[in-house]
Amino acid sequence: MKYVYLFGEGKADGKADMKNLLGGKGANLAEMNILGIPVPPGFTLTTEVCTEYYKSNQSFPGELAQEVKQSLSKVELIMGTKFGDKDNPLLLSVRSGARQSMPGMMETVLNVGLTSDTIPGLIKKTNNPRFVYDAYRRLITMYSDVVMEKAAGIEPPEGEGIRQKIEHHLSSYKLKNNLKSDTDLDEADWINVIEIFKNEIKSSLGSEFPDDAEAQLWGGVEAVFKSWNGARAISYRKIENIPEEWGTAVNVQTMVFGNTGEESATGVAFTRNPATGDNKFFGEWLTNAQGEDVVAGLRTPNPLNEDTKTEDTNHLPSLEDTMPKIYNELFDIKNRLEKHYSDMQDIEFTIQEGKLWMLQTRVGKRNGVAAIKMAVDMFNENMINKETAIMRVNPHQLDELLHPALDRDSENSATKLTKGLPAGPGGAKGRVVFTADDAEEWNNRGEKVILVREETSPEDVHGMHAAEAILTARGGMTSHAALVARGWGKCCIVGCNELNISLEKRQLTVGNEVVKEGDWITMNGTLGVVYLDQLKLIPADPDRNNEYKELMSWADEIRKLKIRTNAESPEDAKQAIKFGAEGIGLCRTEHMFFDETRILAMRKMILSDNDEDRREAVMGLLPFQKEDFKETLKAMEGKPVTIRLLDPPLHEFITLNNKQIDKLAEKIGIKKSIVSQRIASLHELNPMLGHRGCRLGIAYPVITEMQTRAILEATAELVKDGLNILPEIMIPLVGTVTEYINQENIVRNIASKVESKYDITLNYLVGTMIELPRACLTADEIAEHAEFFSFGTNDLTQTTFGFSRDDIGSFLPEYLERKILPEDPFQSLDVNGVGKLVTMAVKYGRGKNENLKIGICGEHGGDPSSILFCKENNLDYVSCSPFRVPIARLAAAHAELN
Ligand code: PEP
Ligand code: MG
Repeated sequence: MKYVYLFGEGKADGKADMKNLLGGKGANLAEMNILGIPVPPGFTLTTEVCTEYYKSNQSFPGELAQEVKQSLSKVELIMGTKFGDKDNPLLLSVRSGARQSMPGMMETVLNVGLTSDTIPGLIKKTNNPRFVYDAYRRLITMYSDVVMEKAAGIEPPEGEGIRQKIEHHLSSYKLKNNLKSDTDLDEADWINVIEIFKNEIKSSLGSEFPDDAEAQLWGGVEAVFKSWNGARAISYRKIENIPEEWGTAVNVQTMVFGNTGEESATGVAFTRNPATGDNKFFGEWLTNAQGEDVVAGLRTPNPLNEDTKTEDTNHLPSLEDTMPKIYNELFDIKNRLEKHYSDMQDIEFTIQEGKLWMLQTRVGKRNGVAAIKMAVDMFNENMINKETAIMRVNPHQLDELLHPALDRDSENSATKLTKGLPAGPGGAKGRVVFTADDAEEWNNRGEKVILVREETSPEDVHGMHAAEAILTARGGMTSHAALVARGWGKCCIVGCNELNISLEKRQLTVGNEVVKEGDWITMNGTLGVVYLDQLKLIPADPDRNNEYKELMSWADEIRKLKIRTNAESPEDAKQAIKFGAEGIGLCRTEHMFFDETRILAMRKMILSDNDEDRREAVMGLLPFQKEDFKETLKAMEGKPVTIRLLDPPLHEFITLNNKQIDKLAEKIGIKKSIVSQRIASLHELNPMLGHRGCRLGIAYPVITEMQTRAILEATAELVKDGLNILPEIMIPLVGTVTEYINQENIVRNIASKVESKYDITLNYLVGTMIELPRACLTADEIAEHAEFFSFGTNDLTQTTFGFSRDDIGSFLPEYLERKILPEDPFQSLDVNGVGKLVTMAVKYGRGKNENLKIGICGEHGGDPSSILFCKENNLDYVSCSPFRVPIARLAAAHAELN
């Protein structure tokens, strides 16, 4: 087995596609060499060394030392210098490099090889003692921290690490000697400081700083391998799902210096602008500096070229202007790299005494807007094909275009208040209010508000609508607060367990932090993070983005899955059509009762204790329902509209306080005590498993009759007006075929009455939601009757796991933290469990009825990885909230290309 891969002088043992073995950095350094791009020579110790190292109780393979020695002597030959030599010493950098970039998570040691032997030689050679001592103190700082402390397993108390101590000494020295910045220290100063550093290392860590080049090299190499299992790297791997067994490679490379004087410089650049996607070479550089100076922000870096100067940077010198020849060389390299990799590159370079060296190239990270622009531009520039362009944009990145987003810089410097489940994406800011009425009232006064509730109920809907965003202490991703908010494209965070809300004091607390009514907060609904104060927001308008429109049209050409939307109002339907929806997959009729008159009639119906009153109350709803359906069906002309019969968890409509009961009693003309008594009698211990779904329609057939009549009369009237209306009546929460047959009979019976009343043949379907395990297990029986299935994966997840969808917030964070679950199953379909039921139901269903139309309308319908699953299971469509339609369109194209 070969453990060490050499690169230098236009040759390399490795190449770009060997990332698994050489890590991203090593593979690309090799590739740049092959391309004839100037790269300081060096060698890569493979990821297999790392794996072996951990396998053999932290010891290196026997052959490694010999291979390193051989590679090192080849590097020495190329450079004409010698590692550890007292006249002409070679200095090395030792850096990590995993398969997937893990920025800042592992360690680096620079300037390896500086010792009391080599320092005089280097001073003589460079004629620059200040530079040499500056390099030496940097080595001491990094080495003591990375090798002598971290890799040695020393865990000092917070703030008392060797690096902090050393940096503290440097600050005190500067203060005492009246020196402002590091550049004010001369040779003698650095010699003094180095002495102090060394003493501190000895007294804190108990050993001398090593004065032997070889020892420094192996210390550095081992420390970088050890940093693969450092705390930062481990937690980053967890978040990014990077397997532990991958290991890191280590790159040992000739040091080049950007800090030897005014002829030297260093910089980082992107081949295109990573924030806008503009095809403009974009970067930052500094003269007389090392890479860390650019990144650390101690000195303000300069713009790379004239083209990308802004008002703020106009007065600064560009590389283009200062070193035009080098800039042109760099520009040429960036063109070659981008063309070679067919993607935007993130590059690092150093200029040492007028010579340009490339230190790194990798695919550059970018935001959503930039990803779309680059993908479309690169297609138009014949760099990539359409399929690649589509795959270049992560569907989640579209979120940025569909919602206002938080400005990253302002978010980075903000104070975090708390964290919850990210139920509605985007950013929002507003003043805190605690009741829906306040939200509405403040909003009417022109205030932007965020409604903060323990949890929300239909009672709060007006306030939710008036608010910029919704924040709740309880609830999960599919709690109704979350559904409603997402449907409106509103920012929403639920299940913030740390929130203590006091309605009396009109304040919320998180630990010691108190936020009073009227105080500003800002929310990142994409991440579920709440911040104190007002942060900057960036507005959204995808239609103004031509590249977005173009990319989406390509996605539509490729995808076969249809995309519908979950919508209950004509406004939502229109919004969804604008976003590309091809029908409605779920109209939750109970959501159409949220307005004041309708909710009253609904409550009257729920609270009726006899059939006669109930019929009267229900029939009172018919004209409203018919009008509402008409509007929505009209908005969706020519497209299928699935309307679900009533499915309210009853508690959502009758959880009322004393004052509200008073008001209700007065309005419906029943004594308060009787209203209270009926509410008490309807109380369910487990309403999510209670009297809802088709159970309601079976107990009170009049509801099914009324709703069917409303849907089909609305249809008949629109058809008579010449419109093509395609309703699909959906029966909820079916667990047995007998339930389905019971409800279907009512629907068909009313349909034939409507047909004779209007003298018309209606074009409609009757089908069911599949949202209970038993429905999946008996899907063959149900499919003998139903014309379509729509998977209600919210309830199917709830009933498969036995997790209450409203209460999962109380334990989910713990589950995710401890990796009991990989992710929230209400957000991303649990393929192994719930998914099996879906696969089974599709097979059973289509086995009995090959024309069975099948879709999904649970929240998973808007989740890209769940959409891939739907495609693999041959569903006909997915349905999601309007603001997720574009994401679903792109995800469906990805699923096709996968
Ligand atoms: C479901 O259960 O997945 C569903 C779409 O219905 P609801 O969320 O309204 O219960
Ligand atoms: Mg359901």
